[in-house]
Amino acid sequence: MTFEKLALHPSILKAITESGYTAPTPIQTQAIPQALAGHDLMASAQTGTGKTAAFVMPALQRLSTASTVNSRGPRVLVLTPTRELANQVTAAAIKYGKHMRFRIGSVVGGMPYPPQMRLLSQPLDILVATPGRLLDHMERGRIDYSRLEVLVLDEADRMLDMGFIHAVEKIAAATPATRQTLLFSATLDGNIAKLASRLLKNPKRIQMATQQERHENIEQRLHHVDDGAHKQRLLTHLLEDINLDKAIVFTATKRGADRLAKTLYAKGHPAAALHGDMNQNQRNRAITNLRSGTVRLLVATDVAARGIDVSGITHVINFDLPKSAEDYVHRIGRTGRAGAKGIAISFAAPDNFQQLRDIERFTQQTIPSHVIPGLEPTSKPRQHAPSGQRRGSSFSQKPRHPGNSQRYFKGKGGQNQPGSGQGRRQGSGDAGGHG
Ligand code: AMP
Repeated sequence: MTFEKLALHPSILKAITESGYTAPTPIQTQAIPQALAGHDLMASAQTGTGKTAAFVMPALQRLSTASTVNSRGPRVLVLTPTRELANQVTAAAIKYGKHMRFRIGSVVGGMPYPPQMRLLSQPLDILVATPGRLLDHMERGRIDYSRLEVLVLDEADRMLDMGFIHAVEKIAAATPATRQTLLFSATLDGNIAKLASRLLKNPKRIQMATQQERHENIEQRLHHVDDGAHKQRLLTHLLEDINLDKAIVFTATKRGADRLAKTLYAKGHPAAALHGDMNQNQRNRAITNLRSGTVRLLVATDVAARGIDVSGITHVINFDLPKSAEDYVHRIGRTGRAGAKGIAISFAAPDNFQQLRDIERFTQQTIPSHVIPGLEPTSKPRQHAPSGQRRGSSFSQKPRHPGNSQRYFKGKGGQNQPGSGQGRRQGSGDAGGHG
């Protein structure tokens, strides 16, 4: 399959070529034609599979023809669970739409209201928003949905997990019934299926690889540890690996993230924290610094790290195991992106027995256990392996180190880090007109 065969607009194709993409990913191959044909979609696709482009490109294609409605509101609305993901979607639209003229803006929580109010009072083509803040503006009558053609629910499962269901439903109910709705989610069952049945019309269902087939380019390793001091010693050892270029180290708490980032920094590692107590500018700075290489290690908590799309993350280290198995999958998905290889290392203390068992059940993989001579655990780990396939064991034979070649997957527009609440005009320098 080629992008040309997907019948995308020439200006989008030009941006794709400039991004260095040679072929559409499987989710793009399946979703783009259906979306271009105007169907509603419910697609299961994990982050890192190219799902953002799968809805951004068809949305941009719509903007290549003029709206038939004479008003100022957005023609495309993308709802995301987090600010980081909103930034990522905005950056993707700017990247793939760089040869088109349109106006894009984002409205997310944690940012000041006045720039967002200014943004919403002006003509807008694409609005990327987190549900809570958008609802807030909506209830104050600041949004005109009369032009809305496409509603995208990105990471819908996460929006439900985060308690946004009522906001999402209220927002959808305020948009025209004629809209096209594109829903992307890691899973399509249970509450997502119920939400889809309320918001989508005869959707085409696209089911990508199952849980256990994902992450095959990520080598997962487990280290049994005795306690916090043992974790620190192991981490210090692992950070000496010359193949470790950029890493995200996950901790269970915000304070833990701050503390560990400070300790690492004091030991001479370019490290920074990333968590929900930081304001959006601080979070953006941390991610930009990781992207540019000013920082090599981000010490993060789950919510803040969601949606981070930084190419070249060679390692994810679970200093503390996540509470849920889904979070484990999201965490390790920060590495091994877009075909690159990555390594995900988890520390498990004796009291993490249940979490580890849940993760291995969920992924249906046994995480191969590794021991570093001189840093062995003193206590014998409990047997945690789940019943079923032991697919992971082959990984422990010969570690595959990710090389720098993964950078080639990142398009040159990937450095964009748009500020939230900022409108952006794409196009040929015409600041006043509206294309
Ligand atoms: P996503 O799943 O949307 O988070 O995308 C993951 C990464 O894949 C992003 O860095 C994209 O720039 C990259 N990407 C998207 N589509 C392609 C493609 N067709 N070929 C290579 N990389 C891609």
